[in-house]
Amino acid sequence: MDKSLNNIPVTTLKGVGDALAGKLAKIDIHSIQDLLFHLPLRYQDRTRITPINTLQPNSDVVVQGKVLAAEVVMGRRRSLLCRISDGSGTINLRFFHFTAAQKSNLRPGAEIRCFGEPRRGATGLEIYHPEYRVIKADMPADIQETLTPVYPATAGLTQQRIRSLCEQALQLLDDDSSLQELLPEGIREKYQLSSLVAAVRLLHQPPPGESMLLLSEGGHPAQQRLAFEELLAHNLSLQQLRKRVQSIGGFAMPPTNQLTKKLLAQLPFSLTAAQQRVVAHVSQDMAARVPMLRLVQGDVGSGKTVVAALAALQAVENDYQAAVMAPTEILAEQHQLNFANWLKPLGISMVFLSGKTQGKKRQEVLEKIASGEAMVVVGTHALFQDEVVFHRLGMAVIDEQHRFGVHQRMALRKKGEKNGGLPHQLIMTATPIPRTLAMSAYADLDVSVIDELPPGRTPINTVVIGDDRREEVIKRLKNACLDSRQAYWVCTLIEESEALQCQAAEVTAEQLRETLPELSIGLVHGRMKANEKAEVMQAFKDGHLHLLVATTVIEVGVDVPNASLMIIENPERLGLAQLHQLRGRVGRGKIASHCLLMYHAPLSQQSRERLQVMRDSSDGFVIAEKDLQLRGPGEVLGTRQTGLTQFRVADLERDSNLLMAVRSAAEELLEQSPQTVEPLVNRWLARGEEYANV
Ligand code: ADP
Ligand code: MG
Repeated sequence: MDKSLNNIPVTTLKGVGDALAGKLAKIDIHSIQDLLFHLPLRYQDRTRITPINTLQPNSDVVVQGKVLAAEVVMGRRRSLLCRISDGSGTINLRFFHFTAAQKSNLRPGAEIRCFGEPRRGATGLEIYHPEYRVIKADMPADIQETLTPVYPATAGLTQQRIRSLCEQALQLLDDDSSLQELLPEGIREKYQLSSLVAAVRLLHQPPPGESMLLLSEGGHPAQQRLAFEELLAHNLSLQQLRKRVQSIGGFAMPPTNQLTKKLLAQLPFSLTAAQQRVVAHVSQDMAARVPMLRLVQGDVGSGKTVVAALAALQAVENDYQAAVMAPTEILAEQHQLNFANWLKPLGISMVFLSGKTQGKKRQEVLEKIASGEAMVVVGTHALFQDEVVFHRLGMAVIDEQHRFGVHQRMALRKKGEKNGGLPHQLIMTATPIPRTLAMSAYADLDVSVIDELPPGRTPINTVVIGDDRREEVIKRLKNACLDSRQAYWVCTLIEESEALQCQAAEVTAEQLRETLPELSIGLVHGRMKANEKAEVMQAFKDGHLHLLVATTVIEVGVDVPNASLMIIENPERLGLAQLHQLRGRVGRGKIASHCLLMYHAPLSQQSRERLQVMRDSSDGFVIAEKDLQLRGPGEVLGTRQTGLTQFRVADLERDSNLLMAVRSAAEELLEQSPQTVEPLVNRWLARGEEYANV
């Protein structure tokens, strides 16, 4: 009997019906093995009660005390304020949403135990919306035996639910055959990797003694064990992929310079030295019969689009079609405008295709692509669909690679196959990735870097400031806004659910509205409907709002030149790459811009240095390199949100210390036990079978 948990669907667990299975599928959990690899984002220590006088802000704790007073206070927003004492000190709990039952539960004299995160509020440390329960004298202590895991969740799936499913899954994890150990003994010994089963067990149920700090940084040996295996699988799959692509062959398109020269002559600027260098790499690649597989990295605004246009023209000069793809409708439309500007005067026929291209128009576009009448095709991932048949596709530009799955890139390759080869591929990304990282993350790609911005941009002045000076910051914000500037206030919270993040941004917006009644303040977060978001953004763009409070998910395409001030709360919680992207929202106009990084003391030495890097540099690559140098195993930073690559466990930045070892382990594995490559790749890459088919 096959006991492999990979083949056992979650529906075999108690309490999992179709509805729940559907929700799990949304977060890519299908088998019991998927559940076991669904690792906690962080942990809560509910194994002990913390005395109130030792509380620190911003970490989750259990406190227990007697209610001294509970009253409804009026502010801009009504709240229930409940003061508790445990003899060592007192703290306020604050509820913006509360029921009559809660009010009577929390009456003076009641003993309550609560769990939450103390934050600085109007009355000193406060806990907003804690989980709590009233303790009866004879009730047993409900303190947990292991650290409590907090899992990535999704709408309608509670932590409680996921926890109990994972517990069930762990019970099935009996012996080695249920979750097969794929790494050969020799490799595990050499790189000091524990057994897979032990690592998985520990991460779901860490004993109380395990270091919360190490776990939260992802530096625990059990986390590293899994990350290592995942990175290894990824590296192996990419190596195989590149070999296969190159063995198939492509089309030689030597530069004739007929069209590219014309475009260069017609541009209102000349290329920077960095652009020229990258254009030369690309041109040389395309001249060869081996399909180009090149990644171009360039900071936001470094001028990647014109490089892409020149590459497309080299294909057209050779009588091949070129496709240009962007990850979102907005970005695709932007490309369409740019390309039309540049290529129409050269008499090149272009079409645009996205999900919105419908009906007769769609038919027309598809026909032009199929007949070869359209030489350049710009669009979204709609271009991957089977109904899109190219006449002679010779090259493809894929913008913002990290949003495209590898399988989509491969689907595109197939589109050129009917002419007996694979199209050249140019992948462009604004995510700065240091070289060593890039070599591993994109082991199948050659890399070029545009490491220079066009002349004439206004630099942003970045200040690192403690949140004990919040009032000063608010005053500065007020003055700037009354002086007709606009500002962003970015809330960062590491929370297990988007809902809680959004709630935190709501609280902040509420507090700011209270302190700054003279300003008009808008709020955007990921849980708002698209049209609501668009409305707020438009109001901000039109200058009707002074201040925009936002979660870190500020939409792509936000371009408000008048916004010249950005305040980022708790920047120490974010990755430098993410901070850099956020900061790029200001500095787009003529006015000098400022970015205030408002940290929460005490900062570790490393966090301090990292924020200094932000203060001292505005170069995405310098920032990324420094980040890598500074962090050994790394701090926990919101890098998971930057979407560099779709890893389940590993984090390229955090786990960069593993990359060299992973590379040599990949070589050893290929040599010593090539038969494990396939199961390894299949385990970690959802579409392993597609890799095999390229
Ligand atoms: P990104 O690399 O972020 O895609 P774009 O290609 O959109 O950057 O370029 C940003 C802006 O800079 C565009 O308006 C573009 O026309 C302009 N630009 C590109 N290259 C140069 C250059 N060498 N000199 C001046 N402006 C340039
Ligand atoms: Mg771009």
